[in-house]
Amino acid sequence: MTSSLPKTFATLLQYGLPNDFAKRVRDAGLTVTKARALSITDLILKYGLSPSEAKLLTESVRRQPIDPDVVSLLLQRSNFLCNVCKGDKGVSYILHHIVEYEQTQDNTYDNLVVLCPNDHDLAHQRGLTLRITVDQLRQAKEDWEHQVKVANAQRAAQKKDINDDAIDYGHVCQVAGNPSARQSVEILPQLQEKYPQYLRPEMTSVQFVQSQDRCHLEITTADRVRDYLVDETSKRTDLAFVSGGSRAFFSPSSPITENVRRFISEFDEVSIIHCTDLFTNEAATRIDEHWRRCGVVPGSL
Ligand SMILES: [Zn+2]
Repeated sequence: MTSSLPKTFATLLQYGLPNDFAKRVRDAGLTVTKARALSITDLILKYGLSPSEAKLLTESVRRQPIDPDVVSLLLQRSNFLCNVCKGDKGVSYILHHIVEYEQTQDNTYDNLVVLCPNDHDLAHQRGLTLRITVDQLRQAKEDWEHQVKVANAQRAAQKKDINDDAIDYGHVCQVAGNPSARQSVEILPQLQEKYPQYLRPEMTSVQFVQSQDRCHLEITTADRVRDYLVDETSKRTDLAFVSGGSRAFFSPSSPITENVRRFISEFDEVSIIHCTDLFTNEAATRIDEHWRRCGVVPGSL
């Protein structure tokens, strides 16, 4: 059983790295601390980054990190989409400083906007023809956040809660002798019931795990190595950066049964594809396309 680093991806976002790149950096086994210590040559030769990626990483991790609450608010209020093209040019995202970081070091909510890499390039254009100006960025952010808020409210009004009685919350496991240390609930059966067509088939267990200071998922997959050999891998997905309004969506101070209920009945498909690896790539693409086309989650596709 192996475990990947839970916090690294969210931390890399705090340094303003594009989400795709942050995932690759994490998957390469790099952390912010390692990236700070390594030379550009090492990042290229030992970790397979391109020269421009190595330079971007080195420069980014020397900045002051953006507060994690600010990161999650920006992403939630934008539904993880570019505020300018609303995802039309691609669903990758990057947190952009509206007034350049070098000028002000301003990491506040008001100075940040979610952009796709394409519009991010345009925001950094020096020429006047294509450049997206500071005023245009502010307007785009205000407009898109408003649209998202309206769409979310409509979605909440339409939503049918699934029948809580059907969910078995009975199997809370605790570490013996220390009741507050770590609790977990197996949620794969509930997920299979709710999302039979979306889930990755290789998952053998999905545990919602809660300790005193954080909540995460532990997803176990079984890969057939040869005809009969099965390799089990467990991977953690941190839920600490998922926020609902100003506070964490899954709070470690709430009972684990309440957090599990929220995960099953309130956490929607769009959030699931952006925050976890529970769904197949095909399902994620369909949900994403539907979201971009209609501005609502697909429900039952
Ligand atoms: Zn865009």
